[in-house]
Amino acid sequence: MKLKSEGLPRPEPRKFDSSILATEIVERLTYRVGKDAANAHKHDWLHAVILVIRDRIIDAWIRTKQEFHEDKGKRVYYLSLEFLIGRLMRDAVSNMEMLEQMQEALGSLGVDLNVVAELEPDAALGNGGLGRLAACFMESMATIGVPAYGYGIRYINGMFRQEISDGWQVELPETWLAHGNPWEFERRECSYEVGFAGVVEAAEETLGTPGKMTWNPQERVIATPYDTPIVGWRGNQVNTLRLWSAQPIDPILLDQFNAGEHQGALRDSNRASSLTRVLYPADSSVAGQSLRLRQEYFFTSASLQDIVRRHIQDFGDIRTLHERASIQLNDTHPAVGVAELVRLLVDVHDIEFEEAWDIARETFSYTNHTLLPEALESWSVPLFERLLPRHMQLVYAINAHILKVARKTKGFDDAAVSAISLIDEAGERRVRMGNLAFVGSHKVNGVSALHTELMKQTVFKDLHKLYPDRINNKTNGVTFRRWLMQCNPELTNLIEEAIGPAFKDDAERLIDLNKFADDTAFQEKFMAVKLEKKIQLSNHLASYCGAKIDPASMFDIQIKRIHEYKRQLLNIIHAVALYDQIRTHPEKDWAPRVKIFGGKAASSYHNAKLIIKLANDVARVINQDPAVQGLLKVVFVPNYNVSQAERLFPAADLSEQISTAGMEASGTGNMKFQVNGAITIGTLDGANVEIKENVGDDNIVIFGMTADEVAAKREGNYDPKEIIANSPELKQALTAIQTGTFSPDDTFRYSGLIDGIVEHDWFMVAADFDSYSLAQRRVDEIWKDKKLWAKMAIKNTANAGWFSSDRTIRQYAEEIWKVGL
Ligand SMILES: *Cc1c(COP(=O)(O)O)cnc(C)c1O
Repeated sequence: MKLKSEGLPRPEPRKFDSSILATEIVERLTYRVGKDAANAHKHDWLHAVILVIRDRIIDAWIRTKQEFHEDKGKRVYYLSLEFLIGRLMRDAVSNMEMLEQMQEALGSLGVDLNVVAELEPDAALGNGGLGRLAACFMESMATIGVPAYGYGIRYINGMFRQEISDGWQVELPETWLAHGNPWEFERRECSYEVGFAGVVEAAEETLGTPGKMTWNPQERVIATPYDTPIVGWRGNQVNTLRLWSAQPIDPILLDQFNAGEHQGALRDSNRASSLTRVLYPADSSVAGQSLRLRQEYFFTSASLQDIVRRHIQDFGDIRTLHERASIQLNDTHPAVGVAELVRLLVDVHDIEFEEAWDIARETFSYTNHTLLPEALESWSVPLFERLLPRHMQLVYAINAHILKVARKTKGFDDAAVSAISLIDEAGERRVRMGNLAFVGSHKVNGVSALHTELMKQTVFKDLHKLYPDRINNKTNGVTFRRWLMQCNPELTNLIEEAIGPAFKDDAERLIDLNKFADDTAFQEKFMAVKLEKKIQLSNHLASYCGAKIDPASMFDIQIKRIHEYKRQLLNIIHAVALYDQIRTHPEKDWAPRVKIFGGKAASSYHNAKLIIKLANDVARVINQDPAVQGLLKVVFVPNYNVSQAERLFPAADLSEQISTAGMEASGTGNMKFQVNGAITIGTLDGANVEIKENVGDDNIVIFGMTADEVAAKREGNYDPKEIIANSPELKQALTAIQTGTFSPDDTFRYSGLIDGIVEHDWFMVAADFDSYSLAQRRVDEIWKDKKLWAKMAIKNTANAGWFSSDRTIRQYAEEIWKVGL
């Protein structure tokens, strides 16, 4: 291709004037969407607008690819089973700096950009934090100038849509592709075959041991990529998000049809399409189904084949892969890639095992996201062996190699050796994906300072002893383009008025705001912006879910996946306790609060779904009671997703980050609240610890046990009954819930949930309650001192810069990927 393209004419890059944009929008509407402007629906306008924006991104995309080829640098490949992208249009318009021109262009056509933007589907190809991190990283890599591909799955149905019916969560399929997806490009020419099951035979010529083998899969599917351009801030660079879709192999299908085997052909076709149909709606727990392992291998194999093909095409020699490619494993979901790369090198590219192993380890690095035992991925050996027979052999070969090293190392007894083994021998034998990812990577990182420390002490204790230089920390971050500039233009403008525009290119410049923290005039402006965002949220919630809330109240918000360790239950119990106190002491000067909850529960997670029902039951009773009118409200916002998040974070006064210490790896919601000027009430868990260091002890409200104290309490003979007996406030609230005050239709609905607290209290809800309640009283006191609140809120925004994902990505680039910037 490159021979002739030199002389070919290239289209002029597209222009940004509003009149040109308007002309092009009508042109796309006519010739691409096939509609006359007079008859076009709003969706047609959306489609046409996206096409016009996309053209400008394509210009930068092509330029980016050319620049890479001139530099011959290193590429980063970010493998993730989840990308929680949300809407893309506002991101693209804003990063291309064409918002005003686009508004003007659409205005001249009688169309409102905001109305059209609301129609864009929210791409929810992820569950929560892990998937959203991948999306923030993609945007930051394009901003910082890291040449990168994201690899994942193009799920037909992403995360389910949550409806609340009679207070219960109902899960409905989200059909984000129903109106087509104008952002993506299908690239059939880059398709690959991915095999499953079958038999492995010794290859004719084998080099070294373990030698080259031939794998004859019993089942094959085709992986076809769909590319979405991801544009960085100021259109700096455009990277590619490549998502794989599964298709049955056509020729076999045809042969089978010809031979009259319709059943078999249809079965293969269904099997292939089911591979990319659904995202597993699990968060922090493992879906054990074999379809999940098939999904993981499917996208990982396709991605590695693509990476290897591209490397050979660009650089010729596969032996230099690690010099030109860094592959980041986002959690263990793509960890089978370690064995897959070794397989490709040994079986396809004739490289000896030892060298293949070195290349693989130098290429991969791995991010751990959780220490929860139930979330550490492992697969039963018989299942793994049946589905991936060649990979099973390689896992054994890698294991033999590692265990040999360990046995030769001082201090490794049998217990330590069995702890680092890739095979868990206790009970049913299982392949430990965390250990595979660890040994197959040159760097392994945690996602906050505390989490990284705990990794060294717990899950990877023995592996850390064997490879003491491997574990490192990369505290998460979020992109400030989406989580400040796009979702809160009012605050962005105020900040720019005060300190100039430098913070838009370097988030750490936000520290210049510190000098305005005591400035009364600025405090008033800052809180006026907050009020404006609260009014916008109130109006939205009124039409979205019928909630009526007073923007003058404190907006106390907890939005995240529903999980017992995140302790929404602690917050609900506090609402119940507060309700009782307000009724008992109506004469006191209560700070009016609205407690807002949002989040989805995994469909199989019974207690999490019960917690949603409880929040809604409590809301119904409290909101109807005239005794607390104007002082306390509880709202559950249905279908928490990226688009809802963009409305909620800017409107928050109080950020609830109250997980059991030691259980939240980092959190990123905490950072989105902080940059938007909310004050955190939180435990010393995950990145809260670093938020405290950044904002200072006076500008955050910390409560509860530390991770060490939680561990010690669990080890000792902790008796929650004693704690409850000694806390009248807690006892009253638990009794009210347990005896059906909020569930008169089903008195014992919450017996099991409350029994869990009374009997073992694994998540330390009782143990932390009094401390939490006291901290909430401190929050009330601060709220009543308007100047103090404003000062603290400003300090939160001013000291949020370090939590930009640009900082995180720079650290990955310098310390793990070694890509020059
Ligand atoms: C940021 C974000 C999360 C992660 O929230 P945590 O509080 O860190 O668990 C989950 N879902 C969405 C939609 C988000 O935007």
